[in-house]
Amino acid sequence: MKKIEHIGIAVKDLEAANATYKAVLGSEHYKTETVESEGVSTSFFKIGESKIELLAATNPESPIAKFIEKRGEGIHHMAFAVDDIKAEIARLEKEGFKLINTEPKAGADNKLVAFMHPKSSHGVLVELCQEK
Ligand code: ZN
Repeated sequence: MKKIEHIGIAVKDLEAANATYKAVLGSEHYKTETVESEGVSTSFFKIGESKIELLAATNPESPIAKFIEKRGEGIHHMAFAVDDIKAEIARLEKEGFKLINTEPKAGADNKLVAFMHPKSSHGVLVELCQEK
């Protein structure tokens, strides 16, 4: 894995969270994107090399809605950049980690993504992402 690509934060209200993080970071989000297949609306902030992804649910069945129901707003996942997502999935499975996605799928921000189960990584949902 190359670096932390972004930190994902689950929020109830994307507009309100955009305003909050604009005030915190001193810069505007640079894009918003809805991934209908995942039931999320996202917006991205850039601070130096790092990115923050805000995620809001687009429907009550969304994984983000369920996350907020259970745990409230907050850090949802940590994403690592990888060069070859299929090779990383295979490597992690071989190491005995439980992957939620054993095949990469389309994510926000022009990425192929796969998630690793938080039970495998001490409570942190880990996202692998590869530039498309
Ligand atoms: Zn993410």
